[in-house]
Amino acid sequence: PYLSQHELRTSFVDYFKAQDHEHVPSWSVVPAENDGSLLFTNAGMNQFKPLILDPNGVKRKIVSVQKCIRAGGKHNDLDDVGSDLHHQTFFEMLGNWSFNNAYSKEEACKMAWDYLCDTLKIDADRLYVSYFAGSEELGISADFECRDVWKKIGVPDGKILPFEKDNFWEMGASGPCGPCTEIHYDRSEKKRDAAILVNRDDSVVELWNLVFMSNLRLPSGQVKKLHSEHIDTGMGFERLLSVVQNVPSNFDTDVFAPIFQRISELSKLQYGGRIGKDLAGLQDSTFRVVADHLRAVTVAIADGAKPAGTDSGFIVRKMLRRACLQSTRILNFERSSISELVPVVVRTLGEAYPKLRRAEKYVIQTVEDEEKQFWKVVDKGAKTFENMLKDVPSGSKSFPGKFLFALHDTYGVSVEITTELARIQGLSVDLEEYERLRNQAKEASKKSSSFGLSLSISDFPTHSDNAKYEYDYDFATDKYHFPKT
Ligand code: ATP
Ligand code: MG
Ligand code: MG
Ligand code: MG
Repeated sequence: PYLSQHELRTSFVDYFKAQDHEHVPSWSVVPAENDGSLLFTNAGMNQFKPLILDPNGVKRKIVSVQKCIRAGGKHNDLDDVGSDLHHQTFFEMLGNWSFNNAYSKEEACKMAWDYLCDTLKIDADRLYVSYFAGSEELGISADFECRDVWKKIGVPDGKILPFEKDNFWEMGASGPCGPCTEIHYDRSEKKRDAAILVNRDDSVVELWNLVFMSNLRLPSGQVKKLHSEHIDTGMGFERLLSVVQNVPSNFDTDVFAPIFQRISELSKLQYGGRIGKDLAGLQDSTFRVVADHLRAVTVAIADGAKPAGTDSGFIVRKMLRRACLQSTRILNFERSSISELVPVVVRTLGEAYPKLRRAEKYVIQTVEDEEKQFWKVVDKGAKTFENMLKDVPSGSKSFPGKFLFALHDTYGVSVEITTELARIQGLSVDLEEYERLRNQAKEASKKSSSFGLSLSISDFPTHSDNAKYEYDYDFATDKYHFPKT
């Protein structure tokens, strides 16, 4: 049956409440103040990490709908958004949990299947499942128990497939992890066999991931057993919504439709759901990027993030700037239009997350301020960028690092602005050369001591900066530190 976004959230929570689960509300998407290990909440299980690591934990069953942002760290979908039809940076994750063996693998799979096929009446013929194939490297054997559970449930042999990498889930570079089983949905009209899962064709989407949390990856890379077994499931809310609303993609559901309509009004263009490198594909992909990024920044700012040069604030700034540039250059927006999308985001999500309504004015103001500041910098830099473009050899696909460096160092145009300006010209940027010049300048400034030029490079976190978002692990006591809640 067709369900609205509100009905679907309620249906999921009610189903698991009827199976004795406690309903726990969504955690903030900005856990930074109380959890230094993440940039943003990237999965429903993040807030339950203490329950997973607690050696004296008790049996518990929990259900939640969690706001997630995957735009940094281990799960980073920022650069994929727009180019396909089922990844966003901000999405909601439906999840149910068994802590300390509150239920078994078989019960978890049965409930998942029952919810999809019996409660939501999804066509079982369109579903495929995968299980963990085992890994020599990790020293963990194949999960045949899981395979046999699916057989027992009645999934045909040909639709149960083993995978190694895709079926071992990890929260971050270190932390809780374990073998998993996934449920995939085939949108295509043809009835096909499971071979399509191997070749990952775009019409097949992963709906639900059931993780059997039994391991812990240490910062050294070593994987050890947890004290107890837990089940952690996560299902993409918008993906499921697109299935129950019988629309082609996440972006055609009622969480997106009003935002797309507003983008249409502002751009005088129609969204066509296209993917591709031609103009129509580029415009549609920009609809998706702009809608996604405005949802993400609205939720993040309401949860306490501020556009800034580091950490989650940096990602918020990056998303806003990308939305500003792409909406004006590709969708013909007026410069100050981005903040006009905030009210419609609040309209679509405010019922589920009332905090957004309370924060609305503040979010609009923050976005407006950031937009103004951004255009000031761009106007200064764009002229210089365009002059530099004349010196890029014709036929070259890359914007030289020396220009990137000069723009940043001399004109204050950050690398990410130049990257976006270049992207619109179909150019990549030579980050390697940029890094080399930056390091040279750093060395030079050290040598010239008190007269050294100081570079402001804080707006571009390097790979190693991400390391600080990992768990705080104490080798002496073999314990992870996490905040008391
Ligand atoms: P994918 O392979 O499609 O990138 P994933 O394996 O990275 O998904 P999980 O970490 O297993 O995702 O998260 C659980 C569920 O959350 C997925 O099965 C999917 O339905 C949903 N999901 C994950 N990433 C996104 C995203 N960027 N946008 C929307 N839904 C997502
Ligand atoms: Mg992914
Ligand atoms: Mg996957
Ligand atoms: Mg997965």
